[in-house]
Amino acid sequence: YFRTMEKVLSGIRPTGYLHLGNYFGAVKNFLALQDNHECFFFVANLHALTTHPDPLSLSSSVKSVLAEYLACGLDPEKSTIYIQSDVPEISELYTLLNSLAYKGELEKCTSFKEKIRKHEENINAGLLTYPVLMAADILIHRAHKVPVGKDQEQHLEMTRNFAVRFNHRYGVDFFPEPQAFNFSQQLVKVPGLDGSGKMGKSEAEGNALFLRESNESIINKIKKAKTAPSPTEPNSVKPIEIENLFMLMGLVSSKETIQYFEDKYNDCSIQYGPLKMQLAEDIVKFALPIKEKIVDLEKNTDLLGKIAKLGAEKARESANETIKGVKNLMGLKSIWL
Ligand code: AMP
Repeated sequence: YFRTMEKVLSGIRPTGYLHLGNYFGAVKNFLALQDNHECFFFVANLHALTTHPDPLSLSSSVKSVLAEYLACGLDPEKSTIYIQSDVPEISELYTLLNSLAYKGELEKCTSFKEKIRKHEENINAGLLTYPVLMAADILIHRAHKVPVGKDQEQHLEMTRNFAVRFNHRYGVDFFPEPQAFNFSQQLVKVPGLDGSGKMGKSEAEGNALFLRESNESIINKIKKAKTAPSPTEPNSVKPIEIENLFMLMGLVSSKETIQYFEDKYNDCSIQYGPLKMQLAEDIVKFALPIKEKIVDLEKNTDLLGKIAKLGAEKARESANETIKGVKNLMGLKSIWL
């Protein structure tokens, strides 16, 4: 059942443009894994259905995430890049795994509790079984490593539970136990600009910085980012809003720049205006080449189509192998076909 090269899988929902949280929490690790792993990266459009998106905007978002993946450096020659709904075996495995997932554990899931708090009017079965579909995404290729941000840690744990449960029930080591993965050892959580939680596509306006954002807009958002009073005691602990700005700097600025502002913070001479200007400049510099590639790729629908088709073929080949094994083990192998 096992191959020699470790398998990697991850996806992003087409619910909007990619932001720095997606890049540093997920995509940056995808890039580093491409060369020495068997990688599967997909656009998670089935996962986007829970919020009932408009069909036209969903399909245009799929196209933009695919272009963004490629612009960031995902390479269809090295990785299998596909659209989730183009691989029906994922939905099949989701059906097969559903009976291994219990209502209690699904209801306890933090992201489910958060979603029902935020969207009381739309608590659908897709939201509840989100972790099962995610498990199907991962287990369909029997992946070992899943490069994701910290927000996905609990879902990964659930995937491991389903995998272990399956192996136990059918008495074989069929599924490996996949692990969340980040090169920096710790999973990354990129903060938003509003001084509170994480950067996210659906958070308040101005919270997220998108890869394709115009330079002016990046600068404006950073200017408006929440700050806190300047320190009055040397070496004080940073308030969360300031810690967040330094965290963003840690992602895009040079060591010297960061040290310069750290020293200023620690001797109480810091001014947040210049810090924000420097941060904005470094983010603009980081995003510019990616942005240019996104614009080019989005114009090239033929190329995007070819890449999606090739990806679906490769993904289905791998998925089929798993589905065959699963159905055999579960007693679903057809006697007549
Ligand atoms: P989503 O946009 O929720 O589909 O997330 C796609 C990927 O980006 C997942 O691997 C998330 O863990 C990651 N991600 C999203 N937002 C952040 C963030 N603020 N910090 C780190 N990783 C993130």
